[in-house]
Amino acid sequence: MDSEPLFPALTSPGPAPALQFGDRVVTYAELAATAGALASRLTAAGATRVAVWATPTLETAVGVVAALVAGVPAVPLNPKSGEGELGHIVADSEPSLVLAGAGERLPGVLEGLGRVDVRAPAAGAVDAAGAGASADGVSPAAALPAHTLDPSSPALIVYTSGTTGPPKGAVLPRRAISSTLDALEDAWQWTADDVLVHALPLFHVHGLILGILGPLRRGGAVRHLGRFSTQGVARELAAGGTMLFGVPTMYHRVAEALPDEPELVKALAGARLLVSGSAALPVHDHERIASATGRRVVERYGMTETLMNTSVRADGEPRAGTVGVPLPGVELRLVDEAEGEIAPDAGPEAVGEIQVRGPNLFSSYLNRPDATEAAFADGGWFRTGDMAVRDADGYVRIVGRKATDLIKSGGYKIGAGEIENALLEHPAVREAAVTGEPDPDLGERVVAWIAPADPALPPALDDLATHVATRLAPHKRPRVLHLVEALPRNDMGKVLKRALGADTP
Ligand code: ATP
Ligand code: MG
Repeated sequence: MDSEPLFPALTSPGPAPALQFGDRVVTYAELAATAGALASRLTAAGATRVAVWATPTLETAVGVVAALVAGVPAVPLNPKSGEGELGHIVADSEPSLVLAGAGERLPGVLEGLGRVDVRAPAAGAVDAAGAGASADGVSPAAALPAHTLDPSSPALIVYTSGTTGPPKGAVLPRRAISSTLDALEDAWQWTADDVLVHALPLFHVHGLILGILGPLRRGGAVRHLGRFSTQGVARELAAGGTMLFGVPTMYHRVAEALPDEPELVKALAGARLLVSGSAALPVHDHERIASATGRRVVERYGMTETLMNTSVRADGEPRAGTVGVPLPGVELRLVDEAEGEIAPDAGPEAVGEIQVRGPNLFSSYLNRPDATEAAFADGGWFRTGDMAVRDADGYVRIVGRKATDLIKSGGYKIGAGEIENALLEHPAVREAAVTGEPDPDLGERVVAWIAPADPALPPALDDLATHVATRLAPHKRPRVLHLVEALPRNDMGKVLKRALGADTP
C-alpha cells in the first residue's frame, strides 16, 4: 500500500491557491471538496475506467484529480484528435464513462459513452476549511476519500505522442507518478512555494503529470495560460510565477521574441527555473535565451512509458544540448547494437541506446503484450529507442531516435540532432530536420529539410553544406536539400519525420 496519498495537500486542505486558469482560481479546500464529490460519484456509478476530454481547462484538472482520488484509471483524450484516432483510443481503452466540462461539445465517436459533466467550483463556493455547500451541489459531506491505494494499481493510461507510429496506451501505475514527481522535487528543488506557469496541453505526460499533478503533489500552485503566448508568460512570471515548463517550440518563440519584448527578458531573468522537454531544445535557442536573459534553460528527458529519466539539476550546471543526469531512483545505461553495456567512461563518441530501469516505469502497453515484451531487455531494462552519448561527467546527450535519427553513411553513424543544430544557426534557416535516404555509394546520404527564414531568399545546398562542414566533420554535410514551408509537427511541436516527403517535393 502507499504509505501516503498522491496529494498530501488535499487531505487537510487550506485556503492556498491550487489551480488557476485565466482568472479562475481554485484553492486546495475547493479542489478537495469538488474532486471528492466527483470521486464519490464515480465510485457510486461503478466506473472502472474513465476517459477525460482533456481541454486545457480547470475542469480537466478537476476530472483527473477526481479519478485519481477514486482510484479509477483515467484516459486523457486529445480534443484535437480526429475521430479516427479517438475511435482507436476509445475502442482500445474501453472507458465506461467520459468526463467532460459542462457545456463541452463532444464528437460523435464519444456519444456511445455515458457522460459525466465536470463543474469546477465557483469562486468562494467552499470556505477555507472545506465547509459550505456551493451552487454546484458541492457539499462538505463529500469528504475526500483516503486515496491511499496500491502503488502498483493503474492510475492513468496515457497514449504516446504517435511520433513514430500509431499511439500506444501506456498503463501508468500510481508508483510511477509519485516516484517521478518526487525525483523532480529533488532535482529541481521544487517546493510548495513554487508557482508554475503552464501553457501545455493536458493529455500528455508533460502537461498533465508534470504540469498539473506535480504542483498539486508539492502543495504549490499552477497558473495555466489556456493558450501559449510570450506576453502571457511574461505577465505570469512577473506576477509571482517561479517556474516555466515548455516544449522547444515555445522556447523558440521566446527566443525570437526576446529582442522586441523587454518585459519578457525581465520576467525570464527573474524566474527560478525554466524547464524544457518533450523534444530536443535547439542549442541556438538555448544560447539566444541565455545571452538575452542570463538564464539557462534546464532540459529534462522523459517518455510516456518511463515518465522522467534524466534532468539537469537546479543546483547543477545547465549546459546546452544535454538532458543532464539520471534522476534519483532511475538506473540508466547505454548499450551497443548487441545490447552490451557501454562503459560509463567510454567517452563522448560512444553512441548507444538508452535503457532505463526504476520505479518510474509504466506497467505495460494496453492490449499490446507483443509490444510490451519487445520493449524490455533482460533484467527489466526498458529500451527507450533513443540514442545518446555521455559527457565525461555523466551528462547525457541525446543523439536522436534509433529508428529515424541515426544515419549510416560512408561507414559512419551520424546523429541527425547535431546537424539540425548546426543548420539552425544559419541565418537563412527557420526550421530544420535531417533524415537519411538510400545512396548507392554511401549506404545512406544526409538529407536536409529546411523551412527558410525568408521564403523569397531560400538558402542554397552548397551554402548549407559548407556551413555544416565547417562546424562539424565534413562527412556530416547534407547532400540533398528539400525546401518546405513548415515542418510537419504534432501537438507537442515534435517534428513528424515519417510525414516528411509525403507532400513535399
Ligand atoms: P511514439 O512513441 O508514439 O512514436 P513519442 O515517442 O514522441 O511518440 P512521447 O512518449 O510523448 O511519444 O515522447 C517521448 C520521446 O520524446 C522520447 O523517446 C524522446 O525521443 C523524445 N524526448 C523527450 N524529451 C526529450 C529531450 N529533452 N531531448 C530530446 N528528445 C526528447
Ligand atoms: Mg515513443
